[in-house]
Amino acid sequence: MENKPYISVLIPVLNEEESLPELQERLYRTMEGIGEPYEIIYINDGSIDSTPALLEDYHNRFPCVKVIEFNRNYGQHMALFAGFERALGEVVITIDADLQNPPEEIPKLVAKMREGYEVVATFRKARKDSLFRKIPSLIVNKITARLVGVKLRDYGCMLRAYRRNIVDYMNMCPESSSFIPALANTFAKRIVEVEVEHEERTKGTSKYSLFKLLRLNFDLMTNFSLLPIQFIGVIGIIVALLGLAFAVLLFVRRLVVGPEVEGTFTLFAILFFFIGAQIFSLGIIGEYIGRIYQEVRRRPRFIIKRELM
Ligand code: UDP
Ligand code: MG
Repeated sequence: MENKPYISVLIPVLNEEESLPELQERLYRTMEGIGEPYEIIYINDGSIDSTPALLEDYHNRFPCVKVIEFNRNYGQHMALFAGFERALGEVVITIDADLQNPPEEIPKLVAKMREGYEVVATFRKARKDSLFRKIPSLIVNKITARLVGVKLRDYGCMLRAYRRNIVDYMNMCPESSSFIPALANTFAKRIVEVEVEHEERTKGTSKYSLFKLLRLNFDLMTNFSLLPIQFIGVIGIIVALLGLAFAVLLFVRRLVVGPEVEGTFTLFAILFFFIGAQIFSLGIIGEYIGRIYQEVRRRPRFIIKRELM
């Protein structure tokens, strides 16, 4: 295994002790089957179960297994960035550790890469997640496709392949928050989407809480365009015009019918709507300012506690 790997497989791991043994087993078999030199890089994103011990064991038993260990949890996308910085392969594959994406699909991606594509994206055939996850996902995919200008069906599926040049470009983007599939698409010219199987998560639980999912979607929206903030500007103009029209209406009414008293509550309702819209706008502006703050602070994006290479 001394030759330079042709394929690098990157796996972000947060408390996946239950799926890891089967994953390593199936991945090893699949990768050996491809017959190209490869490396498997696990990025331990601050696990507090027996994940670190398992990974160390794989590193000792399999020469192709490398491990990057964060000092704490920085999130799946930061883990992948750390992996991109270390990956040596011409083809870099990302895959989840929870076996929802079967590792057996990897050869399909590698074959597509051989046709010369720069990014091989995937969409999940019969995605096995709750409706609570699938419906927002549908909306986010539509918006992302518009923002990034590349129409893909499934931005959320993290089983993907990237060519060396794209990984190099991504390594030049030291953003403190990002969404990798969208970032890659801003650099790639030849992108293809293939269908992959998707399994229910049978081991362990999802590492994305509602809050974390929301954060991820905000990363996606605000990192890739100014559209949200421009959208707010337009809303502001419309709201102001409506308010003006409403004032004129009330004034005319006062002249014709006399002052209104019973209408007070309608006014309250309308007022609340406007207040809501204002707060929402402030929130969005805050998102951008927060991100600017994060960038100018120039803190390291993640801290690597130890590496087994
Ligand atoms: N993950 C991670 N850090 C996090 C959250 C998730 O490394 O902060 C990993 C997790 O171990 C898994 C992958 O990212 O390998 C996808 O997470 P999960 O399956 O929980 O997400 P879901 O399928 O529910 O979207
Ligand atoms: Mg999953």
